[in-house]
Amino acid sequence: MHHILEPSAPLAEALASHGQPAWREKAIRRWLYGTRAAAFSDMTDLPQALRGVLEEEFRIWTTTIATHSQADDGTEKLLLELHDGQRIECVLLRDGDRRTVCISSQVGCAMGCVFCASGIDGVVRNLTTGEIIEQLLRLARLLPAGERLSHVVVMGMGEPLANLDRLLPALALAQDPQGLGISQRRITVSTVGLPPAIDRLTAENPGYHLAVSLHAADDTLRTRLVPVNKAIGLAEVMAASDRYWEASGRRLTFEYVLLGGVNDSPTHARDLVRLLGGRAALVNIIPYNSVAGLPWREPSQGSRERFLDVLRVAGVNVQVRRRKGARIDAACGQLRRLALGAPRLAVEKAAVDPLFIDQQAIDQQASGT
Ligand code: SAH
Repeated sequence: MHHILEPSAPLAEALASHGQPAWREKAIRRWLYGTRAAAFSDMTDLPQALRGVLEEEFRIWTTTIATHSQADDGTEKLLLELHDGQRIECVLLRDGDRRTVCISSQVGCAMGCVFCASGIDGVVRNLTTGEIIEQLLRLARLLPAGERLSHVVVMGMGEPLANLDRLLPALALAQDPQGLGISQRRITVSTVGLPPAIDRLTAENPGYHLAVSLHAADDTLRTRLVPVNKAIGLAEVMAASDRYWEASGRRLTFEYVLLGGVNDSPTHARDLVRLLGGRAALVNIIPYNSVAGLPWREPSQGSRERFLDVLRVAGVNVQVRRRKGARIDAACGQLRRLALGAPRLAVEKAAVDPLFIDQQAIDQQASGT
């Protein structure tokens, strides 16, 4: 059985060996990505015999939906169980006419950011291209027939730049007019900042929107929060980001999770202003979403405002991510941990759980303003 969503699936060969014209491949792909068919048996304009062959040799779905949660604001989250029993999360966000999906790139994560739920247990494995595409299709199928996905953010579980080989073909499909037809500038890849991988993206395909997670503007603090920084250092992260920016011509985003009493003082804000050094970048401030068992907390409103003031006064373009997906543990990495038996968040906490997505920021990034 081949996963038909894998680029390597031998569909052309199968058609040839069953005496089918090559153009059927295009028709099948149109059913998959345009019509969002759930099964080969739905592909009604294919000859019956061909449908049978497809059913025998290929499968569309390798995952099952373990949980499907919906929030009042239209956010929907899927916990998908992979063929090997591993679980990943992906989210659909609705905002005006925007239909954004947040997808995962790995099971778990190896980066070890100390405040993040996804990396607590390390990385289990990379997702395959087919598994990444499957998230897109599963989420697209939640939309009524007349609606299409408009934006993709790779901000779910995992470090996308640690799995570029499998991610890039999936994003190519997302973009392909014969795939999902989502314009490249509406596809955001969020990274902890791995310079060699950023450089590879710069060389191969700088059309995606890049968001770099900083979380601190000096190496000592950043290494404490983002341990992978120890071997890299901020200077390298910023230099690689600059090279990407030069190649893409599109403004970068830097992400910064505010952690109360840790990286949220006016001094930290001034350090950030200095680090940005007048770059035409957008700073995306992410309200911290508490993770059960971890000591980090959101800052008080007062310290958050003071932090933001320093940035604004210095002329930094700053955006605070809005909360979405309340009540459905919409923060990526958390649902999987719950499913793994980790302690549940207190109910009163869950009611204010943010999702890491700010539609406005994404739109702003996308329009390059
Ligand atoms: N590995 C990628 C994608 C991670 S998810 C990266 O590091 O960018 C996207 C963003 O959410 C990252 O900036 C990540 O640091 C942040 N994040 C992780 N856990 C969080 C939490 N509990 N609350 C708020 N933001 C969090």
